[in-house]
Amino acid sequence: MKAWAANNAGGPEVFEMVELETPQAKPGEALVKVKAIGINRHDVMSRTSVNPEAPLVDRVLGIEIAGEIVAINDPDGQYADVAVGDHVAGIVVHGAYAEYASIPLSRAITFPKNVPFVTAAAIPEAFMTAYQTLYWLGFLKKGERVLIHAAGSGVGTAAIQLAHHLSDAEIIATAGRQDKLDLATKLGAKRVVNYKEEDFAQVVAQETNLQGVDVILDFIGASYANQNSQAIGVDGRWILIGVLGGTKVPDFNMGQLLFKRVKLEGTLLSVRSDQYKADLAADVHRDVIPLIADGTIAPVIDTTFDFSDLPDAHRYMEDNKNLGKIIVTVDH
Ligand code: NAP
Repeated sequence: MKAWAANNAGGPEVFEMVELETPQAKPGEALVKVKAIGINRHDVMSRTSVNPEAPLVDRVLGIEIAGEIVAINDPDGQYADVAVGDHVAGIVVHGAYAEYASIPLSRAITFPKNVPFVTAAAIPEAFMTAYQTLYWLGFLKKGERVLIHAAGSGVGTAAIQLAHHLSDAEIIATAGRQDKLDLATKLGAKRVVNYKEEDFAQVVAQETNLQGVDVILDFIGASYANQNSQAIGVDGRWILIGVLGGTKVPDFNMGQLLFKRVKLEGTLLSVRSDQYKADLAADVHRDVIPLIADGTIAPVIDTTFDFSDLPDAHRYMEDNKNLGKIIVTVDH
C-alpha cells in the first residue's frame, strides 16, 4: 500500500510517499480500507518531533480515518455487531496517512452508508473532544451558558452544534475572522465576539447580566486566562483543551477561582486510556451519529485535499486558513 511517512522532524517537506506492507488486524482490531483522513493539530506537532531512526511504519503519521472494514480479528466474538463491509470512522493508534489502517474495534464508530466518508472523517477527533469537554468534564446542563473559543476550528464548530442541539445552551463564541463568526451564528451561537476587536470578558458580562458563563471551552490558555477568569460564573467549569495562546500567565489573580468556586481542568484525549476512548466513542455513536445521519448536525469541512497532496494539507493548517476540518481523500 501507499503511505506518507515523515523522514525527519521538520516542516511539511519531510513527508515522502512510501510503499509498505498492508497491515494486518491484530486481535481486537479491524483492518480498514481508508477513504478519508482527518488532519489534526496533533499531527502537525507529531511531525515536528519525528525520530528519523524510528522504523518506517512508525513514521506514518495521522490518527483519524473513515473507511470500509475489509477484515476483522475478533477471536472472542465480542464485536459480533460489526461486519466486513461496514463503514467506520475513528481514532487509530497511528498510521492514518495510508491506504489501509487498523483500528481497535472498541473505538470504531460505525455510521450509516448515506453519510459520505469525507463527512465521517471529520467526526471522531472533533466530536469526541467536544463531547468529552462539554459533557464528561464540563457537565453542561440544558439551558446553561457556555463560552466557546476558536469557534471556527474543527472542535469549536462541533462544540457549538452539540451545545445547541443536545443542550439548548446559550452560546457565546469567539474567533478572529468574520466568516468564522458568521458560521458560529449559523450553527447556534447567540452572541459572537471578534477577539481582535472586542474584549470577550466584557461581552460576557453584558450578555449574562454579570452572571458569567457556566462552562468555558478553552483552546487558548495563557493569553485568555485573565479574561476567562472574569467571564466564568459561580460554580463554573473551565476546561482547558489547548494552549494556542501560550502556557505562562505572568499576572494571574487566583482569587477569582476561589471566590467563584471555579473548577479548572485540563485534558488531552490522545493520551487517555483505550477504555476511555472506547467509552467516549460509544457515547458519540449513541448521541451524535443519529443527528449527523438525519442532517441535524453537519461536521464543518473547510477543504479536501487529494492523498497525493497531503503535505499541502499540513501547510494549509499551519497557516490557520481553515474554517472547520481539513480532510484528505484516498482513491483506491
Ligand atoms: P483548528 O481547526 O486548526 O483551529 C484552531 C483555530 O484557533 C485557528 O484557526 C485560529 O482561529 C484559532 N487560534 C489559533 N491561535 C490562536 C490564538 N493565539 N488566540 C486565539 N485564537 C487562536 O484546530 P482544531 O484541530 O479544531 O483544534 C483546536 C485546538 O484544540 C488545538 O489547540 C488542538 O490542539 C486542540 N485539541 C485538543 C484536544 C484535547 O484532547 N485536548 C483534542 C483535539 C484538539 P482564529 O482565526 O479564530 O484565530
